[in-house]
Amino acid sequence: MSKIMRNSEVPQYSDRADVIIIGYGIAGACAALEARRAGAEVLVIERAGAGGGSSALSSGLFYFGGGTDVQHAAGYEDSAENMYRFMATCMGIEQADLIRRYCDDNVAHFNWMEAQGVPFERTYFPGKAVFLLSTEGLMSTGNEKVWPFREIATPVPRGHQVAREGESPGGGAMEPLLARCEEAGVRNSYDSVATALICDDAGGVCGVAIRQAGVTKFYAANRGVIVATGGFGMNRQMLAEYFPNLPETAQPLGTPYTDGSGIQLGKAVGAATQGMDGMIATASIYPPGQLIKGIIVNLQGRRFVAEDSYHGRTAAFIMEQPKTRAYLIVDAEVFSYPETVTAHHTLIDGFESIEEMEARLALPTGSLAETLADYNLHAAEGEDPMFHKHPDWLKPLDKAPWAAFDISFDRSNYLYITLGGLKIDRHARVLNRGGEPIQGLFAAGACTAHIPRDGKSYASGMSLGPGSYFGRVAGRMAAGKSGLTD
Ligand SMILES: Cc1cc2nc3c(=O)[nH]c(=O)nc-3n(C[C@H](O)[C@H](O)[C@H](O)COP(=O)(O)OP(=O)(O)OC[C@H]3O[C@@H](n4cnc5c(N)ncnc54)[C@H](O)[C@@H]3O)c2cc1C
Repeated sequence: MSKIMRNSEVPQYSDRADVIIIGYGIAGACAALEARRAGAEVLVIERAGAGGGSSALSSGLFYFGGGTDVQHAAGYEDSAENMYRFMATCMGIEQADLIRRYCDDNVAHFNWMEAQGVPFERTYFPGKAVFLLSTEGLMSTGNEKVWPFREIATPVPRGHQVAREGESPGGGAMEPLLARCEEAGVRNSYDSVATALICDDAGGVCGVAIRQAGVTKFYAANRGVIVATGGFGMNRQMLAEYFPNLPETAQPLGTPYTDGSGIQLGKAVGAATQGMDGMIATASIYPPGQLIKGIIVNLQGRRFVAEDSYHGRTAAFIMEQPKTRAYLIVDAEVFSYPETVTAHHTLIDGFESIEEMEARLALPTGSLAETLADYNLHAAEGEDPMFHKHPDWLKPLDKAPWAAFDISFDRSNYLYITLGGLKIDRHARVLNRGGEPIQGLFAAGACTAHIPRDGKSYASGMSLGPGSYFGRVAGRMAAGKSGLTD
């Protein structure tokens, strides 16, 4: 069935709402609340039997900052300007208008999330972790302390974690948001998959075709349609197109419905996409933090990344190395097993000499010895002239025996989410290939291009944070109001 239909082809509409939202994850729920509160009749179409999506499965980290109460309670000063400087430098100046809007509204947006009942503790986790099983409200989740970013903006932690123990704190955000939607009178159509967008004669989007229990139905949208269907990590065809070299060991994160259907719906009505070859993959060497004091080398025995980088940044550099191979090298003082067991970083062996290790890893003779000699010389002075690893993580690796872990992209288990999607502007309007907004069509969340385009610039929380914010913007815009700040 075609993913686009003309209004004139619709036999009969079986329902009608001012705003129709496809997908009930974080972006869809935030959009629904704002649209409803702006006075619109709202209908959410959701393929699963309940709302939540991948958002409910997530680690519940939101990238918030600019001076939230949680940051203040932990003793950190931040500002919209400081946050903007970091994000624009690290994540890409070409997204400056979205970043500016996100940063300027961030404290207000954090307060809004709390007002909906999403809980954040006033506590701080000072260690290095990818996600928490405990409930601390704040941790560092990006490259803020990594060179050169630490010299451009004052580094502060911005990973705000929902206060819920266990592996899926994201559920602690989705439950109150969905409850608020229900209280506000948002209607929903569960077990319904959106199969086509319906366009009027002028090409504007005015409805949605759905399949429900084997029956096709048509819903009319008086004011607008919001696509909030998540990423495409579960779509093998799209993965083959955009990531042709993805190893079998790499695994997508998310529900089975994270299959890019909303991106395809948008493309069918002329939407542009952006950054489709971007992903954040992770198989972190930390925790424990002490492993960051090791070095990471490629098949040439050379370092290629500051080892204190955010785990997604390290992974992105590993993916670029010859054969995507990389080894973590530690000495006896730093040795520990990586705690993220899902990463499957295997210990290759312990070695009494660097020469022995070079031979076992098949590195060019003398290469690792030279890399280590140079690294140790400068580390003893608290310096890393090559990659500017922070002095907190520098120490000479000179205590035998040494050990090597295989952290190669194709030999460990990297988990990933896709970052590309529909192109939107700062008002969450979907743009066509000519850069013009498509009338009546809005989008937010992981079906749109994330602000960070790759793992090098990603920070944990950059999906839920902007997804929730631009979801709200989309909701207001589709309901005919202006965005949050304008
Ligand atoms: C284990 C895990 C941990 C993560 N941790 C974090 C984290 O801590 N911080 C962070 O920022 N990100 C994290 N992510 C990524 C993040 O959760 C997602 O990118 C984000 O939740 C996407 O939100 P969304 O609203 O765009 O999509 P989703 O939450 O996936 O919601 C999309 C909804 O649309 C529905 N849908 C899809 N297609 C259709 C269709 N055709 N018709 C009708 N309905 C449809 C789906 O069923 C789904 O309910 C994590 C992901 C996972 C899986």
